[in-house]
Amino acid sequence: MSSTTPPHGWTEVRAVVLDVGETLVDETRAWTQAAHDAGVTPLALMAVLGALAERDEPHTRVWEVLGVPRPARTPTIEPGDLYPDALPALHALRRAGYVVGIAGNQPAGAEAQLRTAGVDLDLVASSQRWGVAKPAPAFFARVIAEVGVPADRVLYVGDRLDNDVLPARAAGMRTAFLRRGPWGHVHALRPQAALADVRVDSLGELVELLPARP
Ligand SMILES: [Mg+2]
Repeated sequence: MSSTTPPHGWTEVRAVVLDVGETLVDETRAWTQAAHDAGVTPLALMAVLGALAERDEPHTRVWEVLGVPRPARTPTIEPGDLYPDALPALHALRRAGYVVGIAGNQPAGAEAQLRTAGVDLDLVASSQRWGVAKPAPAFFARVIAEVGVPADRVLYVGDRLDNDVLPARAAGMRTAFLRRGPWGHVHALRPQAALADVRVDSLGELVELLPARP
């Protein structure tokens, strides 16, 4: 996907807040482990996830569709699960002078797991700790309040239209749509992807679009 020319007002961005799953973290290991725990093949599980993404149904339905109980073990985030461009991008954004945060629909334990993975940021938050999950407007209001800059100077980065780009845009934030992971590729086919301020295929591409702050 070619990067779009940043829109008017883009240079006013002061804070960058990123989603977790499939934005920073490659969930392949976690979903593969879940497939083994559930006694289904990773291929079947991944395919059903893709179908649910296409149908705009929650991924939590995957066990019902496969006809197996949800595995008892909660997925964790290991340092090796981060996409190779994740830490370099976070560090580059910090060096460039942005307020940088992470906020996603995750268990509270993900916060410590992300810090262990080498992420030291202005904001590391999870939906479980906040008690509100995307796409609720209250989640994005909390993000804006936590970073302490006006909404139109906050850029939210995510791999989904329904949970990331559209609700962040509705909250008045700038948005970057990242085409990777199952949802990213499925949602990239939709006309609404054009509503994001920028569309990128990697976090490295995004960093190139964000100039160093004076
Ligand atoms: Mg995500």
